[in-house]
Amino acid sequence: MSTQELSRTKSAIDKSTASLALEFGHAWDYAPAPEAKDHVRIQPRYDLFVGGRWTAPKSGKYFLTTSPSTEESLAEVAEASAEDVDLAVKAARTAYEKYWAKMRPAERAKYIFRIARAIQEKARELAIVESMDGGKPIKESRDVDIPLAAAHFFYHAGWADKLDYAFHGRKVRPLGVAGQIIPWNFPLLMAAWKIAPALACGNTVVLKPAETTPLTALLLAHIIEEAELPPGVVNIVTGAGPTGAALVAHPDVNKIAFTGSTEVGKKIQKAIAGSRKRLTLELGGKAANVIFGDAPLDQAVEGIVNGIYFNQGHVCCAGSRLLVEESVHDVVVKKLKDRLQNLRLGDPLDKNTDVGAINSKMQLEKIKELVAAGEHEGATRYSAPCALPDKGYWFPPTFFTGAAQASRIAREEIFGPVLTVMTFRTPDEAVEKANNTMYGLSAGIWTDKGAKIFWMAGKLKAGVIWGNTYNKFDPTSPFGGYKESGFGREGGRHGLSAYVEVV
Ligand code: NAP
Ligand code: MG
Repeated sequence: MSTQELSRTKSAIDKSTASLALEFGHAWDYAPAPEAKDHVRIQPRYDLFVGGRWTAPKSGKYFLTTSPSTEESLAEVAEASAEDVDLAVKAARTAYEKYWAKMRPAERAKYIFRIARAIQEKARELAIVESMDGGKPIKESRDVDIPLAAAHFFYHAGWADKLDYAFHGRKVRPLGVAGQIIPWNFPLLMAAWKIAPALACGNTVVLKPAETTPLTALLLAHIIEEAELPPGVVNIVTGAGPTGAALVAHPDVNKIAFTGSTEVGKKIQKAIAGSRKRLTLELGGKAANVIFGDAPLDQAVEGIVNGIYFNQGHVCCAGSRLLVEESVHDVVVKKLKDRLQNLRLGDPLDKNTDVGAINSKMQLEKIKELVAAGEHEGATRYSAPCALPDKGYWFPPTFFTGAAQASRIAREEIFGPVLTVMTFRTPDEAVEKANNTMYGLSAGIWTDKGAKIFWMAGKLKAGVIWGNTYNKFDPTSPFGGYKESGFGREGGRHGLSAYVEVV
């Protein structure tokens, strides 16, 4: 069957599914299909991984990491103070000077390949822990997060001994110690995005995962230990904001790589101003997903769903503003409503779940506040009629129509499964509205005309632009923002330049 035939058959099935679902009120129930977790071992307590050893925090303090879908405590995790961060940076410096920078690049590559293979071997366990700790559906952690994390290590292992070719005959050298701070929405994947290029380029690392999702970074520390990397090449310090701030402030760190909110990104930029530290920032977004009247609408609706309801909208590049050509607005909204009624929300470990739990109580409050603002400002809300579990943090897939450009739901990052639908009449108007944001991380274009995609891609101020698809990632492709979405790129040849000095 050709791809076109396949997609026609798929859309016919989708349509009949939707109409059946409507007839019976909502989608039929699937029998529960929970992923077994009996082979997964989460330790009751995790120390800091510093200098190749598991060390207790100097303060003796630990915090709990919980499952947002059940509110159960999963483990105690060490809280690193400035003193612990200092020890980690010292370990990274020693490892840099003694082993890593001196090692033949082809040898470095072998270690990175080993990490990649170990992630593949332990993929199932990593996916389950990712879903337990962060609330994302197992089908995403299993099919997206973990395979992509392995792919980033494989890809960068390949670069380790070819760096001279990456910069057109120029020689490069590593920067030294990289301090890396990551958010909770793609915990292991963000760790891979940061650690893999740093190691490939000959740097050593101190990584701080987010407070609500530290577990897979700690499992990665075990993998790194088993891969027998020289002690101190990778150090993992868990904690909250102050731990990250201590890493940023440390005088012996050569580079800070940060992914997180624009607010904290600005604080970091201020904190290192005047120092010689290098910086890359991957911050927030408010991406426009632009649907022209000539687009394959059923596919576009799948793209919208993938763009905003995927991972509960906890995606910096989420297509959170939908710009629809006015002539197809009503039909797109109708199709979207039908589709939302078929999304299955619930247990993240169930293989049929489409929408999992909101990552934390705090994030849920933020989503509720912005949704209330949307209603208050006069937009029309539609939420999928799904039952929310009693325990845990949940928000139903939701969209707003009739929102003004200036409203909060059209301007602010909601970081939840909430879409704001607006319209346009001409391509120029679509460009103007899409660019009418302080962010510039990503965008999507849906149309039958390739020329229109190229025309628009040249005019949109966004670092990543998808044509007739959404949320597709690959380690070879650079990712990063414009404007208040940050600067610097991760992935691809561009991403390497964030971790080297070209001499
Ligand atoms: P966040 O509050 O900025 O936190 C990100 C990381 O920074 C966490 O590890 C956090 O620690 C730490 N941190 C907090 N305060 C700090 C400080 N003063 N100095 C140094 N580190 C500090 O962001 P979030 O709420 O976790 O994540 C959501 C945001 O990240 C969204 O805005 C989203 O758009 C953005 N994001 C962007 C990308 C991208 O590639 N552009 C990717 C994913 C997410 P604790 O969490 O432990 O407090
Ligand atoms: Mg957690």
